[in-house]
Amino acid sequence: MPEVLPLPVNRVSDVVIVGAGLCGLALARMLAARGLDVHVIEARSRLGGRVLTQHCEATGQPVDLGATWFWPETEPRMTALLTTLGLASHPQYDPGDALWLTDPNHGPQRRLEPGGVHAGARRIQGGAAKLVEALAAALPPDSVRQGVAVSALCDRGLFIELLLATGIVLRARQVVLALPPRLTCETLQFDPPLPIVVRDALKDVPTWMAAQAKAVTTFSHPFWRAADQSGNAFVRHAQAVLGEVFDACEADVGAGCDHAGTSHAALGGFVALSATRRENFRRGLPMLIDSQLAQLFGPQAQDGHLHLQDWAEEEWSCSAIDRAVPPGQSQADPFLRQPLWAGRLFLGGSETAAHGAGHMEGALESADRIAHVLFRHGAAAHHASARLALYPAQPAGESRAAAVNAFAVRVQALCGKAPEHYRWHLARPLPGQPADLPTQRALLATVDQVYSEALAYLDELLPALDAAASGAINGRHALTSILLLPFNGWNKGLLEAALGFNAASCALSGFAQDHQPDADALRVITLDLAGAWREFAWELNARLLASAGEAACLS
Ligand SMILES: Cc1cc2nc3c(=O)[nH]c(=O)nc-3n(C[C@H](O)[C@H](O)[C@H](O)COP(=O)(O)OP(=O)(O)OC[C@H]3O[C@@H](n4cnc5c(N)ncnc54)[C@H](O)[C@@H]3O)c2cc1C
Repeated sequence: MPEVLPLPVNRVSDVVIVGAGLCGLALARMLAARGLDVHVIEARSRLGGRVLTQHCEATGQPVDLGATWFWPETEPRMTALLTTLGLASHPQYDPGDALWLTDPNHGPQRRLEPGGVHAGARRIQGGAAKLVEALAAALPPDSVRQGVAVSALCDRGLFIELLLATGIVLRARQVVLALPPRLTCETLQFDPPLPIVVRDALKDVPTWMAAQAKAVTTFSHPFWRAADQSGNAFVRHAQAVLGEVFDACEADVGAGCDHAGTSHAALGGFVALSATRRENFRRGLPMLIDSQLAQLFGPQAQDGHLHLQDWAEEEWSCSAIDRAVPPGQSQADPFLRQPLWAGRLFLGGSETAAHGAGHMEGALESADRIAHVLFRHGAAAHHASARLALYPAQPAGESRAAAVNAFAVRVQALCGKAPEHYRWHLARPLPGQPADLPTQRALLATVDQVYSEALAYLDELLPALDAAASGAINGRHALTSILLLPFNGWNKGLLEAALGFNAASCALSGFAQDHQPDADALRVITLDLAGAWREFAWELNARLLASAGEAACLS
């Protein structure tokens, strides 16, 4: 019989989270703050998953080898969390010419990219791991166990048993799998087995960037800035080693060689070779990267210190399918956002998010969604007082009517900005990720963004909305239709605005059919939008019911 690891309360935790990436840690922080007994199990001997910051041995500067950028314009959760945790950020450096190399036998061409390359992206000061450290610091001691993988889960009815790779068994009333869906499918055993539709949906979601390799070279000074170059470079020929390069300096680096703080200069890039080719060229790859940088930026680019991270070799990030098939977009079937095993098992991780899937924002969004559902599905039953604390204190003087009105005003503002967001999603640069069906994806990303922000605002207003003061009929809270009213006709208007924009958009070069989608394409888009609307309306209603203490209506 496997050993049972002693746990603090009745040997059954409230919640066990599998995976200490951003999703797992953010969720653990929310649950622990509300008094739940939560444990996180992490396979690696470090925290953060696809967030990885190393420090250069030569210069001491932080080097992001995983996630780097966030976009405040469209990623409200990242922006808010950084503010809450007191973490600073700085804009991605873009001024100056970008370099384009299209012929391996000739030098690069300079081009000024109007509006920059990174669409308002920002980076976390000191490296993205600062976020991981701050989240982990907010957890109770001993709540995270590193260096041990979960290998199987068994539903025992009142609780779930988790079998660790060491043979140890943990027990929890509820379990969250905060890891890439394909890893869930490939590496975990389930008893009873997950339904085939769930397994298929898990396999279908590519793990964002998991098959990529990232290279960051640190330098004593940002010599490219002195030459009026942005550090951005694109290599578009068959022998490309780095496909895209960007300025990876810390914020304190100036433009010239003699500027103070010159030791934190760096160029980062994504390796253009496939995972298999990287495996074959593993020993020679550093030299190839050095000479590619030198061809782009001149001989000084060979004097740096290279940091290389091949994510395809990371068994706890990259699944076999990710390694084998070309990368695609992460957009999970909404089905994966439904609880399993009668509300005891939840699928999390960035790839399951409705908004920001694949990004750090998506990891936070899925954590947020699951925190709400956990409180509705039982964790709150053990911690009634904690559930109340899920919502912030009621702002003084805020009446219910004012809150309803404030929600309507915010919805109108969000909907008003949606066409702009659509254009942004359509044109957004996606390093190494070809996006097919751009109209459908950009529209879905836009409505998901609006719904996600509307739900975040609803959370703020819940105390003032005083949902307990009105009843629910057939599981529908009285406020639901009132709050949904400002969305009337919006989907249709957005679709029209998008099609009007598409007709003349150069963002769609290469997608001729998207200039004027045919009836079949429009039907698919309309169905997608309707599905997103249903999920949003359901979630809004569920949050009102939970706030009113009507959780029982949901089961
Ligand atoms: C090279 C690269 C560049 C990126 N750039 C950006 C960017 O610029 N901006 C952005 O927003 N996002 C970026 N991303 C994506 C971003 O890193 C992810 O969206 C985010 O970190 C995902 O967090 P997560 O918690 O959902 O998953 P993960 O970070 O994958 O965390 C999952 C955790 O689960 C653990 N685990 C897996 N299996 C088990 C098991 N069986 N038992 C226990 N633990 C297990 C893993 O070790 C891992 O720690 C990038 C990713 C990569 C790889």
